[in-house]
Amino acid sequence: MRRIEIAGGGLAGLSLGIALRRRGVPVLIREASVYPRHRVCGEFINGVTEETLEVLGIWPLFDDALRHRATRWWMGERLILEAELTRPALGMSRWEMDERLREKFENTGGELRTNDRAICEAKEGLVWTAGRMLQKKSELLGLKAHFEGVELEGFLEMHIGEGSYLGLTPITADGSRVNVCGLFRKGARTKGVNPIIDALQRSGLDGLAARLEKGRMDQKSLTGISGIQLGEQSVKDDLCTLGDAERMIPPFTGNGMSMAFESAECALQPLIDYAEGGEDWTGTQERIREALDLRFQKRVNLALMLHRCLTIRAGRVTLSAAARSGVLPFAWLHRRLS
Ligand SMILES: Cc1cc2nc3c(=O)[nH]c(=O)nc-3n(C[C@H](O)[C@H](O)[C@H](O)COP(=O)(O)OP(=O)(O)OC[C@H]3O[C@@H](n4cnc5c(N)ncnc54)[C@H](O)[C@@H]3O)c2cc1C
Repeated sequence: MRRIEIAGGGLAGLSLGIALRRRGVPVLIREASVYPRHRVCGEFINGVTEETLEVLGIWPLFDDALRHRATRWWMGERLILEAELTRPALGMSRWEMDERLREKFENTGGELRTNDRAICEAKEGLVWTAGRMLQKKSELLGLKAHFEGVELEGFLEMHIGEGSYLGLTPITADGSRVNVCGLFRKGARTKGVNPIIDALQRSGLDGLAARLEKGRMDQKSLTGISGIQLGEQSVKDDLCTLGDAERMIPPFTGNGMSMAFESAECALQPLIDYAEGGEDWTGTQERIREALDLRFQKRVNLALMLHRCLTIRAGRVTLSAAARSGVLPFAWLHRRLS
């Protein structure tokens, strides 16, 4: 049986590795970093189905995940929407999730090399799941940290500011610990101020900044990323990519992790056929690309359009008016974006 090499041990890479191992395929994962660790992420999964997680063999890892059922959206200081999700979103910290997947992969006989940065070059049998491609000119900045002492009343909160948005998600069943994660526009930092509070103030979200200042931030959980490029990623044509490395949905959807798992599901059968010798590498890549386009193209295009609306003033005014007057088709959008 041919071996599959996976570059990047995040959600797409580990879930694919587990699924391939369950079918007896030899798998090596090369991961640039170590486990466990905090990741910039809103830490709720919108959209993924039990069937997808079953196919990948990882559904039991989510047995005790939180189930988020409702959301509140603010535009600046104003509450504009309170709605039920059309399907509960799963909640778990990335510290926990990535570590559970790592353990499962190794327990199924997968070979994992940490602190091992792969070179981005196309080669037969290599699947690139190393996350988004770095876009040096990007003005987007992602920040996240865990807080205690911030009350959410069981809701997922989304706050929209000027050119930014930020989500608050309970990550413990009693709501005592909350993940705070946002996408901001880069700007001059105020020295000595917590970077999340600083970014909120620059976005005109002073009320939320004051609320978080009353809580306690877990300093070790504070993480940031820049160079974020949304939508299709500019990768080498002949590279077999999955997850964020293939295309990145705007984070407000909470659907990126689902897409990482779904992309592993799309690639699974073509890769098994390749490993068993029933398909060549070029044909395998074509089948994977077609499956990914079919599954994600419309979803990501709609999300990119809404992301633009959320980050320009005219778009925000229109969305806010539609939400407040009750004509925003939230349930329809939620289904389409997950
Ligand atoms: C601000 C923000 C908030 C978000 N919030 C949410 C949310 O609430 N819900 C949601 O579903 N999604 C969210 N996302 C998106 C989600 O985090 C990603 O879609 C998801 O992590 C993608 O998984 P992945 O496996 O493709 O990549 P990753 O999880 O990023 O994994 C890639 C892995 O590759 C490794 N790597 C990188 N380079 C190399 C190399 N050269 N060689 C070897 N290894 C390498 C990295 O260390 C990493 O472990 C958010 C994203 C951002 C930016």
